[in-house]
Amino acid sequence: MPDTAIPETTTPETFTGSFTQQEPIPEEGIAAALSVLRHGRLHRYNTVPGETAEAALLERDFAALMGAKYCLAVASGGYALGCALRAVGVGPGDRVLTNAFTLAPVPGAIASLGARPVFVGVTEGLVIDLDDLEARASEARVLMLSHMRGHLCDMDRLMAICNAARITVIEDCAHTMGAAWNGVPSGRHGRVGCYSMQTYKHVNSGEGGLLVTDDEEVAARAILLSGSYMLYDRHPAAPAPEVFERVKYDTPNVSGRMDNLRAALLRPQLRTLAAQVDRWNARYRVVEDGLRNVPGLTVVPRDPRAACVGSSIQFLLLDWPAKKVRAVLDRCAARGVELKWFGAARPSGFTSRYDSWRYAPSQPMPQTDRILRAIVDMRLPLTFSEDDCALIARIIRAEVGAVHQS
Ligand SMILES: *Cc1c(COP(=O)(O)O)cnc(C)c1O
Repeated sequence: MPDTAIPETTTPETFTGSFTQQEPIPEEGIAAALSVLRHGRLHRYNTVPGETAEAALLERDFAALMGAKYCLAVASGGYALGCALRAVGVGPGDRVLTNAFTLAPVPGAIASLGARPVFVGVTEGLVIDLDDLEARASEARVLMLSHMRGHLCDMDRLMAICNAARITVIEDCAHTMGAAWNGVPSGRHGRVGCYSMQTYKHVNSGEGGLLVTDDEEVAARAILLSGSYMLYDRHPAAPAPEVFERVKYDTPNVSGRMDNLRAALLRPQLRTLAAQVDRWNARYRVVEDGLRNVPGLTVVPRDPRAACVGSSIQFLLLDWPAKKVRAVLDRCAARGVELKWFGAARPSGFTSRYDSWRYAPSQPMPQTDRILRAIVDMRLPLTFSEDDCALIARIIRAEVGAVHQS
């Protein structure tokens, strides 16, 4: 008897890959890191005459990649967000608009300054609700916009709303390094763009952050804030010394520097970022196509003007009872597919909804709550093959179908 005679239902397929395993650091990055280890000058300002530190070179490279005038490398993505807020003048008691659907470091950065997050709703497309933003525009002078899970809103309309209301925009691009809206790199619409190089983002140095801006005073403040000990002349992607003269006596040092070891790991990864983005998107499309036309499951649409990075995928189980959502997660987990439910009432392992952040009081947002309850999320590490992605989609399809019918 040929194998094909065995009915598929008797042997449910399972997936055995790891949802948290990234690719190794490229050999070029390992070699550069080893050379930093061998000379021992890990601190970015520890250089010999004629030497430019890896951290400084990283800033120069990233500024060029983003078409930005200024760039600063820092210790983490969360640090970049807090630093950007300080650099644009946010202080204790100030209100800062931000997404109701994002990850904890975003409202955390606002709270770290003693400022208060004001949450703006989320749409079915998982982007900030621009009508809600427009309605709340008078409530704050700054918007910290999180491109959560890589979904880009209509950035042209967002900037029109914010410019009209004189709102300064800081972009959290932790999930959009390498993405673009209408050809403009993500992070280049607002006053400041912030990126993360933490292991689960698009380039990997374990921890790390980058900040870009075209505003000379914001750049100078950010560099001083990061702990430059007045060595700002060692920053190739910095404004002229006169700009520092204007701000250096009233900008505190809130140390959060990048070091040469991590910068060395990162520079070769920036060179291959565009190719990696293509590989992510190929995997994303396989899962997305595999999840189409499943009753009860809503695929999140991507705006054709957005060039995204499919490093994770979300789908909605709109208006499903919690019990059934849990059943889908459990049944997928039993077949090796790790899904996260961003809508879970109690946060575990991550928090991504506004009402989990009780230090930042908020009013209930019923329309947003309906979306949040529906969001199921899955990482797509590049260690998965496209065949893996097709298998994962078949498993989700089958289990969503089974629970939906029950
Ligand atoms: C990871 C992340 C950050 C912050 O990055 P860290 O480098 O971990 O501090 C900010 N925003 C979002 C949406 C993130 O996922």
